[in-house]
Amino acid sequence: MPNKTLVSVAITSLKGVGPSLERKFNQLGIYNLQDLLFHLPFRYEDRTKLSPINSVKLGDRVQISGEIVSNKILFGQRRSLQCMLRDSTGFIYLRFFHFSSAQKNSLTPGKLLSCYGEVRRGRNGFEIYHPEYKEIHSYGTNSLENSLTPIYPTTDGIQQKRLRSFVKQGIEILNRNHKLVEYLPSEILSEYKLCNLEDAIQTLHNPPNCLDLNILNRGLSSFQQRLAFEELLAHRLCIQKYRKAPNQLLAPNIIFKQGLYEGFLDQLPFKLTNGQEFALKDILSDLTQTIPMHRLLQGDVGAGKTVVAAIAAIQAIGNGYQVALMAPTEILAEQHFNNFKKWYRPLGIRVGWLSGKIKGALRKETLQDLEFGTCQILIGTHALFQRDVIYNKLGFIIIDEQHRFGVHQRLSLRNKASSSVFQPHQLVMTATPIPRTLAMSVYADLDSTVIKDLPPGRLRVNTAVISNQKRADIVKRIKDACINGRQVYWVCTLIEESESLECEAAEVTSLNLANLLPKTRVGLIHGRMRSDEKNSVMSDFKNGDIQLLVATTVIEVGVDVPNASLMIIENAERLGLAQLHQLRGRVGRGNIQSHCILLYQTPLSRDGKLRLEVMRDSCDGFYIAEKDLELRGPGQVLGTNQAGLMSFKIADMQRDALLLDDVKIISESLMQKHQEIVDPLINRWLSDREEYANV
Ligand code: ADP
Ligand code: MG
Repeated sequence: MPNKTLVSVAITSLKGVGPSLERKFNQLGIYNLQDLLFHLPFRYEDRTKLSPINSVKLGDRVQISGEIVSNKILFGQRRSLQCMLRDSTGFIYLRFFHFSSAQKNSLTPGKLLSCYGEVRRGRNGFEIYHPEYKEIHSYGTNSLENSLTPIYPTTDGIQQKRLRSFVKQGIEILNRNHKLVEYLPSEILSEYKLCNLEDAIQTLHNPPNCLDLNILNRGLSSFQQRLAFEELLAHRLCIQKYRKAPNQLLAPNIIFKQGLYEGFLDQLPFKLTNGQEFALKDILSDLTQTIPMHRLLQGDVGAGKTVVAAIAAIQAIGNGYQVALMAPTEILAEQHFNNFKKWYRPLGIRVGWLSGKIKGALRKETLQDLEFGTCQILIGTHALFQRDVIYNKLGFIIIDEQHRFGVHQRLSLRNKASSSVFQPHQLVMTATPIPRTLAMSVYADLDSTVIKDLPPGRLRVNTAVISNQKRADIVKRIKDACINGRQVYWVCTLIEESESLECEAAEVTSLNLANLLPKTRVGLIHGRMRSDEKNSVMSDFKNGDIQLLVATTVIEVGVDVPNASLMIIENAERLGLAQLHQLRGRVGRGNIQSHCILLYQTPLSRDGKLRLEVMRDSCDGFYIAEKDLELRGPGQVLGTNQAGLMSFKIADMQRDALLLDDVKIISESLMQKHQEIVDPLINRWLSDREEYANV
């Protein structure tokens, strides 16, 4: 089959891809030509027009060209290289915070450059930080693009320009000797007005400039929707394929043990909320049924879902079954591990830990304990469902922050316990409210419970929206909080589209803050640190040795330090509402009044302003999610493209909600009338590769 061939063209067969680039491509989930062609831009830029420099406006992304007038290094808060660029209408500055001496030497006065970037306000006029630029030899339009410029999700070491040229190569191979197979029957394509698959892929990599940039950037063009549709369909087919009629399946036989239940509650330092009790009632009753539980537990950040899961797990363990608890990040999984150990110690339950970083003898021992049944509950990351992980008697699966996992990841874990007749009980938890229609169609086989209240004594987090120019005032607030024995988070977010720059920014910020606050113990945590380093920083923060923790968004999910009562989020305007809500949920976890300061860079776009106002005015996750849907714009995409965490390549559960009804209908009909394309479709979108083997 031609499509087989696309998969069989390894990424290394592209000109210029050696072993080190191959590894980088793998990090992006790209192993072969098909992966490359389905690796779609998340944003487009219009570089088909040239702006006169005096016409650019704050916040615009512009293509300009001009002559370098000066080039000097500035020593401010951060060392930077500044070049002045002039055309016949005016001048603008280009600014580089990361630059090599070769780069400095090449940007000499007199040279002509063509640049693209976002206009910001600088001290002496407009500036562009880190523009994409190239040297040109004469003015004119020949440096301009003919089509819209795609911006791809990428990773350090593969620059946009380079990635674009590889995609171009890929498309040439496609044009020469392959075809993208259209699996969808033509009657469905015409009935639902879907364009042809290959047209969609070709267009999205190379969109003519007559397409509406705004619609493209929101993922709403017919080409993107066509692909989103097929992807959602593939997921849906996958669920249907694996789902057996519930009454045919045997659930683990769990008899409710009152003693275990009460014994646990007795040693718990708090009383359950009503919401937690209701949720437990649902869950505990499911567990005693003969059909496998399949339940979604929703509850706002801080609602206390973890302890509910812990109480339910005891019942499975008490009946001789093993439990697996999977969380999307190492920090979160480790925190669960520590909590469960603490909670379970009085009961003598043996808790195991597994992450991708556990290797060698330790891993072997952990896996043996699991296989022999010595380990009663295994807590960890994606490592939990890797091939060599064998459970003795897995009967209950808990997945935290389930929206961070793909359907097939959940299924892989479930398959560790399933047979043709047996299926484990499953509890999936999320703080991201899923609109009802979505929950119903995509998670069609899930029952759902919502914890509506928060533990008593929680005070609403006070939220202020403040311009970055007032940073000095904030330093004083940090000092005051620390003097009063409180702890503080400072969150550095992605400005540039690269993780390493984000980590660097966090490093710089932590040094600056340490200078400004000589008496404060400042710590730093970011995604580039080894996991033992991260753990030791986190535990120093937990026990108060660190007062001010400078962090990247790695702390987003689930981290719990009740004494932290102040959070500062930099560049808050660049983040989506859901992410801001999750981040802010890290404070306000104890019974002290907490504060969150959302720092923004001027100028603030209209959307950015509205989003920050929503955050200032509400702490209600459901309300915020609703507003998020309403306000969702192109800026939203930043920060959500971390490889391995994304459930969908193209589809967006909220944006594409309207497609789901059709997806449901069509997947039923394909199951009945076109069995032969079910597997190919699933393979195309959810192929079970080693992609997750190393996470
Ligand atoms: P989430 O629902 O966001 O996962 P967690 O399970 O992390 O929330 O719980 C947040 C914090 O609240 C934890 O410190 C937890 O121990 C605490 N907590 C949970 N339930 C209660 C309760 N009923 N009373 C007081 N504190 C609670
Ligand atoms: Mg949680």
